[in-house]
Amino acid sequence: MRTKISGFYKKSPEERLVIIAKQLNLSKEEQEIIRGQDGFSVDVADHMVENVIGSFPIPLGIAVNFKVNEKEVFVPMATEEPSVIAAASNAAKQSAKGFFTSYTGSIMRGQIQLTNVLDPYGALARIYENKEVILEKCNAEDPTLVSLGGGAKDLDVHVIEGATEKMVVTHLLVDTKDAMGANAVNTMAEAVAPFIEKITGGNAVLRILSNLADQRIVRARGVFENPFLGDKDAEEKFIRAYELAEVDPYRAATHNKGIMNGITAVVLATGNDTRAVEAGAHAYAAITGRYRSLTHWEVGAHDSMIGSIELPMPVGLIGGATTSHPVAKVAMKILGVETAEELAGIIASVGLAQNFAGLKALAGKGIQEGHMKLHARNIARMVGAKDDDLDKVVELAAKQGKISYETIKQIVLSLEVDND
Ligand code: NAD
Repeated sequence: MRTKISGFYKKSPEERLVIIAKQLNLSKEEQEIIRGQDGFSVDVADHMVENVIGSFPIPLGIAVNFKVNEKEVFVPMATEEPSVIAAASNAAKQSAKGFFTSYTGSIMRGQIQLTNVLDPYGALARIYENKEVILEKCNAEDPTLVSLGGGAKDLDVHVIEGATEKMVVTHLLVDTKDAMGANAVNTMAEAVAPFIEKITGGNAVLRILSNLADQRIVRARGVFENPFLGDKDAEEKFIRAYELAEVDPYRAATHNKGIMNGITAVVLATGNDTRAVEAGAHAYAAITGRYRSLTHWEVGAHDSMIGSIELPMPVGLIGGATTSHPVAKVAMKILGVETAEELAGIIASVGLAQNFAGLKALAGKGIQEGHMKLHARNIARMVGAKDDDLDKVVELAAKQGKISYETIKQIVLSLEVDND
């Protein structure tokens, strides 16, 4: 399979779909699902959430040029923000050897909070003494997961000084394999809480997953060969821009938001939980006590730029909407992933590529020129341009050299007068 397709961005949506369908052997039915003809009905929606009255479409695009762990991959991205898919594709092209990833395994944490414990440290010890019984009780809740080699594997118990009292918080460490695992972990936490109450004399309050999935970490690395063509000034600006995100939370928030533009788009396209991944990413970015960059950038040999990213990635191929959303199922087929590890690696690589593209543009001539060109269509629509006039409006605005709400409104008004 070849994901480097020249001029992919210039083709029509139908031509792009034909290319993807051919390379991935998508059936006619799967193609219809992607086109939006056959896929997501109100009935499907009604089975997913409550009080349904319809659905809310988001564009689905494909990022090209990605090679992750020596395997070429087309990356489905669902996003409403212009420039994101183009930037990811462009950055991936500049990482000649692609991306290389590693994964700590799919360990999620479930928390059981105990209050009113007479002897918090004694209780902590008793919980550890009963570790095997606790794990057994958890595993009895999910024989399927256990049969796949997953399940509750270990405990981690903390005494936490709250505003009112010392609380005992038991963490269940559960290997959720190829599921995100929230339901699996929550079920275990609720099931085992009465036993923990019994051996500690405390009262269980919260019994739920922690979204700080610090034992489900994915790392990705990419080398961008001489991206500034020897321009030392541009290279230095890129590194300085990254360094600000390491020390200044105001910059880090925007730096990481750019990374999440890519990550969230793939997480959404695959029917995974965007909020879970975002909460985990931002909490992990602040794990040292200061909110920092999720990426690192270093200058390597021959002016190469070496990027790396590290963050929790609680995504699955099974469970949640990953299997109930028809478009997510086809997106998963396009990715061709068979494990949560593979999916996590691709998502982290997209985040790294997105960050490279963002920093390169920001530290270079800025992002507004390219971004606003793409955004111009949205503004034109916003001020009431007819579909047939969109290209003309963008072209005229670009010619004027100024793409703003005001200029586009003037152009749309002048076209309306011409049409009358
Ligand atoms: P799930 O319960 O639908 O599916 C997971 C189950 O599938 C496992 O428990 C296992 O029994 C079975 N299974 C079959 N094959 C498997 C395989 N290869 N690997 C692993 N398990 C396999 O889904 P889930 O992943 O437990 O929960 C995800 C859902 O929970 C998401 O929709 C998420 O939005 C939601 N959720 C999230 C939070 C949170 O993030 N705080 C809280 C509650 C619910």
